[in-house]
Amino acid sequence: MDTIRPFEKKIYLSSPTMHGDELKYIQEAFDTNWMSTVGENINVTEREMAEKIGVKNAVALSSGTAALHLAIRLAGEKLYGMPRAGHGSLEGHKVFASDTTFSATVNPICYEGGEPIFIDMERETWNMDPAALEKAFEVYPDVRLVVVAHLYGTPGKIEEIGKICNAHNALLIEDAAESLGATYKGKQTGTFGDYSVISFNGNKIITGSTGGMLLTNDTEAAHKARKWSTQSREDAPWYQHEEIGYNYRMSNVVAGVVRGQIPYLAEHIAQKKAIYYRYKEGLQDLPVTMNPFDETCSEPNYWLSCMLIDTDAMAGHVRGERDELWKHEPGKSSPAEILEAIKNLNAEGRPIWKPMHMQPFYRNHAFVTATGNGRGRSNAYIRENEGFDVGMDIFARGLCLPSDNKMTAEEQDIIIKVIRGCFE
Ligand SMILES: *Cc1c(COP(=O)(O)O)cnc(C)c1O
Repeated sequence: MDTIRPFEKKIYLSSPTMHGDELKYIQEAFDTNWMSTVGENINVTEREMAEKIGVKNAVALSSGTAALHLAIRLAGEKLYGMPRAGHGSLEGHKVFASDTTFSATVNPICYEGGEPIFIDMERETWNMDPAALEKAFEVYPDVRLVVVAHLYGTPGKIEEIGKICNAHNALLIEDAAESLGATYKGKQTGTFGDYSVISFNGNKIITGSTGGMLLTNDTEAAHKARKWSTQSREDAPWYQHEEIGYNYRMSNVVAGVVRGQIPYLAEHIAQKKAIYYRYKEGLQDLPVTMNPFDETCSEPNYWLSCMLIDTDAMAGHVRGERDELWKHEPGKSSPAEILEAIKNLNAEGRPIWKPMHMQPFYRNHAFVTATGNGRGRSNAYIRENEGFDVGMDIFARGLCLPSDNKMTAEEQDIIIKVIRGCFE
């Protein structure tokens, strides 16, 4: 093989793409001196996002994680009442959560004193498996809250999950941080949960450099979240506090960046979609598949393109807690080998998000698969009664490919060529 030279400019997994309007709105905030958590950018951004997504209320917050925390607090208080000072609203309560996701989906459950129970993923959309969720309700019928994420911009089986939640009288929180603009049966992700969350983190499909939003049709809940996010000040002449507060409001400067990005969401999605299909085409005769979605009812935002190596095309590799070993075998490859080849090209890939049930911090939590008896433990060293663990399998064989929307077709072709080389 002729040697391929590394890119001079690094190609990222997914980096911010600015267009210029963002600066105009930042300047406006500066010129009018609304350099705080109040101002026109916040008002307009909340209104525009709510309209675009199709929810009554959008509350602008400092991050997607903050939005998840307030969503979980709203759910906890609705279910179990206002907690005493020093206690979480979910204390003593179990919560079902996506297993393969970014940790920010799950951590806020713990901020509120809840105990996450992890629900395995399915193979059709790489999201929470409704069959595993059903099983979880059989084993833990008292659970009243489900937190579900749409991974990599692909809508999960959200209608089915919503029905299961209704049948068990449980609230649904939708983490649409990665899936802004994706639709399921023509409806945007972020409209299915009692409370839903989006993120404007720098790596997301549009960004504010940071920031996030809580989405809900419950206007009273939106008012409550807005109040909590500004330290829970009551309407009184002095600082009057009747419940716990947070400093979670979005800055008017950050909102200026988001405001400038909103008109480009569709363009970013189109670019990401082209990247996904270029990979699909370029890798089609290899023993691999792309991250799947249900073409009959969903349209992803294609935030990250991922690939999965066929089981019988996996070359030898072993993973420890923080490191891994791999070897090349003709006609086969491994995520580690491909990620190293991509890195040597000065591009950025990443392993599939490591499932929560495999994380040392969450190892003692219950983990429910579709085929197990529902009483599996997360502990990787006590793997009994668990059934087949889809999340672990996808983590072992999958990887996220460079998916930056500023990558050119020519650059992507070089990445594809290098991936093909790994299977020679
Ligand atoms: C990015 C992300 C978050 C957190 O959003 P931040 O704005 O970074 O706090 C939450 N959940 C998922 C699935 C994410 O990818």
